[in-house]
Amino acid sequence: MAAAAAEGAAAKALRAVLGRAAKAAERSGRAAEAVRVVAVGKTKPVSMVRELYDAGHRCFGENYVQEFVTKAPQLPEDIRWHFIGHLQSNKVKSLLAAVPNLHMVEGVDNVKIANHLDRAVSSLGRDPLKVLVQVNTSGEESKSGIDPSRCVELAKHVKLACPHLIFSGLMTIGMKDYSSTPENFKALVNCKLEVCKAIDMPAEQFELSMGMSGDFEQAIEMGSTSVRIGSTIFGPREYPNKKN
Ligand SMILES: *Cc1c(COP(=O)(O)O)cnc(C)c1O
Repeated sequence: MAAAAAEGAAAKALRAVLGRAAKAAERSGRAAEAVRVVAVGKTKPVSMVRELYDAGHRCFGENYVQEFVTKAPQLPEDIRWHFIGHLQSNKVKSLLAAVPNLHMVEGVDNVKIANHLDRAVSSLGRDPLKVLVQVNTSGEESKSGIDPSRCVELAKHVKLACPHLIFSGLMTIGMKDYSSTPENFKALVNCKLEVCKAIDMPAEQFELSMGMSGDFEQAIEMGSTSVRIGSTIFGPREYPNKKN
C-alpha cells in the first residue's frame, strides 16, 4: 500500500516560507492569516504548481501573460491567481479570457491600462476585478510603476472611474538585487497613508503587496499583507534568452 507521498522539495520550501511569514506577522503584531503568500511559479512547470496545490496551497502568481494563459487552464479552478507586474493593454483580453479564476491584478500603473482592464471586465461580463496600483518606490527607470507622487491620483481614478475594478491597495517591487532597503517599503507605507486619506478607505482593508524571496520578512514586519515568493519556493529561475 502506498504511504503518503514524500514531501517534494517545493512543498517543503513552501512550508518553510509559510513558517517564516507567520513568525514575521507575529512580530508585527498580526495573525499569520493577515499575510498572504503568493507562490510565483513563472518559468516553472505546471507539475510544480500542482505539487504545491496538492500540499494545500491555493494562491499563485504569474508574471508573463503568454505563460500564464497556457498554465492556468491546466490547473484547478479554485486556485486564486494573481497577475503580478506590468500588464500590456493588448494582452488584457487574452489574460481575462484564459483565467476566469483571476483573483487580482497587481500592477496597474497608468490610467490607460486601468481603463482597458475596466472595459474588458465589463465586456466579458465578469465580476469586478481586484487591482493593486503598482508604485515605483525605487526610482529605477527599469521598473514599471507610477511615481509615488502620483499614486493618489491613479488610486482615485481606479476607485471613481472604473466601476468594474475594485481598488484594493498598492504594490511595489524592491531594488534590483531584491535586497530592498526599508526606504522602498517605507515609501509604499507612506503612499498607503495618503491614499487611505484621499479616498476614505479603512486601513484594515488596504492591501500592501511588498516583499519577495530576499526581503519578505522585513516587508511583513513593515506592514505587508501580501508577499510574492518565487525562487525561495520553486528554486532559481533559468532564462534561456531573457533577462529578468
Ligand atoms: C518574479 C517576481 C517575483 C518573485 O521573485 P523572487 O525573488 O523569485 O521571489 C515577485 N514579484 C514580481 C513582480 C515578479 O516578477
